[in-house]
Amino acid sequence: MAELLKGKPVVESMALDLTARIDALGRAGITPTLALVRVGARPDDLSYERTARKRAESLGIAIRSYELEEFAPQAAIEAAIHEVNADPRVHGCLLFRPLPSFVDESHVCELLDPKKDIDGITLASLASVFTDGHRGYPPATAVACIELLDFYQVPLQGKHIVVVGRSLVVGKPVSMMLLRRNASVTICHSKTENLAAICRSADVVICATGRARAFGAEFFSPGQTVLDVGINFDTQGNLCGDLDFAEVEPVVGAITPVPGGIGTVTTSVTMAHTVAAAEAAATV
Ligand code: NAP
Repeated sequence: MAELLKGKPVVESMALDLTARIDALGRAGITPTLALVRVGARPDDLSYERTARKRAESLGIAIRSYELEEFAPQAAIEAAIHEVNADPRVHGCLLFRPLPSFVDESHVCELLDPKKDIDGITLASLASVFTDGHRGYPPATAVACIELLDFYQVPLQGKHIVVVGRSLVVGKPVSMMLLRRNASVTICHSKTENLAAICRSADVVICATGRARAFGAEFFSPGQTVLDVGINFDTQGNLCGDLDFAEVEPVVGAITPVPGGIGTVTTSVTMAHTVAAAEAAATV
């Protein structure tokens, strides 16, 4: 049976550190504050927002909501971002994406002050991921993968890590972070040939494709650590990851569940970045 790499112990460990730092900020009269900018009311956005609110409340982080109607014009969304930038009491901003198709999303993202970009949506934040720079913050999900691997003391240096998926939200940034940790990283995608053989050859596999239960036992080998980043729904509407958990779990050495794995940690990383942004604002 594989070791189950649950997100909850990681979240609890992060909460210990965050609580101390939030208390220190509180003594200086600062409440770390996260702005949530949501356009419309997509069920997955609302679900993430509920989770974020609960986590923020339990830690003592304030939430400022910017709720725009489904067909809000681009100017209204831009105005919300400008308001976030201008408000010194707001330290971080989470913009729910994708934005409606009629909106120029990359333009809106670029308006956000990198100091408040706690989810790596600006070019400044992304450039820092690739250059080991210090502007902005990396995408929270990519950081969550590293937090979980570190918490469970999974060796990275010199190890072969296969990342399946090359999005700017997960695949590319997590690959760069693993490279910084001296892993040998193979990035795979929809055009990769011999994907199953490449995955089987790895020490660690990170699946981030958004394909429900697409990775069965044939992709894995004994002793591997496998992270499932996918948040998908199967044909019956059940929440599931990219892995066929029932098939893969008996094969590998350690595996993250869905739900209760990477997604849980991602919310805490969002909070950790908000606290870091509040600390940085307090020192300038
Ligand atoms: P995305 O932008 O759609 O990227 C998916 C990636 O998977 C692409 O690079 C794509 O390759 C690759 N891919 C698709 N089919 C493949 C196949 N058959 N074989 C190999 N690679 C394949 O998705 P994303 O935003 O990165 O999200 C990925 C998953 O993570 C989704 O389920 C999403 O819901 C989940 N997610 C979870 C969290 C969390 O907190 N846990 C956060 C964000 C996203 P190409 O580039 O060649 O198209």
